Amino acid sequence: MIVPPGSVVGVLGSGQLGRMFALAARRMGYRVHTYSPEEDSPTGHVADVEVSAAYDDLDRLREFARGLDVLTFEFENVPRAALDALESIVPVRPGAEALWVSQNREREKDFLRKVNVPLAPWAAVRTSSDLAAALSSVGAPAVLKTAAFGYDGKGQEKISSNGISDAERAWEALGLVPCVLESFIEFQREVSVVAARGADGATAFFPIFENVHQDHILDVTTAPAPLSLSEEDLAFEIARTILDALSYVGVLCIELFHTSSGKLLVNEIAPRPHNSGHLTIDACATSQFEQQLRAVCGLPLGSTELLRPAAMANLLGDLWAGGAPCWEKACAVPGVTLHLYGKKEPRPGRKMGHLTALAKTPDEARRRVVDARAALTT
Ligand code: AMP
Repeated sequence: MIVPPGSVVGVLGSGQLGRMFALAARRMGYRVHTYSPEEDSPTGHVADVEVSAAYDDLDRLREFARGLDVLTFEFENVPRAALDALESIVPVRPGAEALWVSQNREREKDFLRKVNVPLAPWAAVRTSSDLAAALSSVGAPAVLKTAAFGYDGKGQEKISSNGISDAERAWEALGLVPCVLESFIEFQREVSVVAARGADGATAFFPIFENVHQDHILDVTTAPAPLSLSEEDLAFEIARTILDALSYVGVLCIELFHTSSGKLLVNEIAPRPHNSGHLTIDACATSQFEQQLRAVCGLPLGSTELLRPAAMANLLGDLWAGGAPCWEKACAVPGVTLHLYGKKEPRPGRKMGHLTALAKTPDEARRRVVDARAALTT
């Protein structure tokens, strides 16, 4: 089924991902309706219609769905029951299954283990005897992560020693909720594969991105990542396995650790466009947001060619600590573009926007984007 330009695409969630998706959709002549509990949201600013209501208000959700030709989501924590209720009204892409798998780390790791992609050693923790068993099978150093609703490093505790008291302290700090314990990986680098699968089963992969995190939040992405051709192929193969196993339709991101011994281990998956793919807007033939639109609307996937080496730096609310950043200074750096999400309150750690730089080499792009960001506050 093709959902042609002129149709109405719905987005559950109304943050920056929905905003950039909506901009791509409007450019191609679609109408965009967004639904979230927020008002005057980043997506709402650029959508045709913004509905502000709760995700568990099934009457409002059904009414919203009746006005759409296809529905997608930009926010992972939409309750599964909401998507299940809408699937009989409008096609939901990607489907509820992919969302459900990625909403819980234990489910996600179970799924990844079943489809046989490489993972760090891990074990589920629900009781204190599970914790002891997990620690003896996984060993220290390890990271204990809450199974549900964790993002950007929230709900994680590092465990440095094999003594159970360290692990118990970590579990208490996380509220004794269900967790997964995973081995702490000494990686050379973190990378991501932003991949797409169309309604016809065709797949496409953006070049691999290298990601550097600061305080568990993505800080800078550079493309292409310095992987060998065989490592790249392996990463794409992992991505294809995951997409096919989920009969996925849309864009999905796979975050991987590239270990010091050259292995690629899946850290987690996100069933949507991803922060590490923002540079595709300026640097690729098709952006990850247009790709998402093409996939969910049943159009052929676009070219993922990287037109020039590129880097992206996130702009967090912390940059506003001394007053409004000097936008003109960043805009003066050649090859740098500014993306702001229209958020009013610049809280510390909040993603307010990003800068992208294009250059002759990935290193030069990274230097340029980091310099441009530093110039904002000097
Ligand atoms: P996550 O929310 O799982 O993506 O974790 C956020 C960041 O914490 C990752 O991007 C890594 O930088 C770090 N991290 C998470 N899990 C591990 C691990 N098992 N070993 C080493 N670093 C990790």
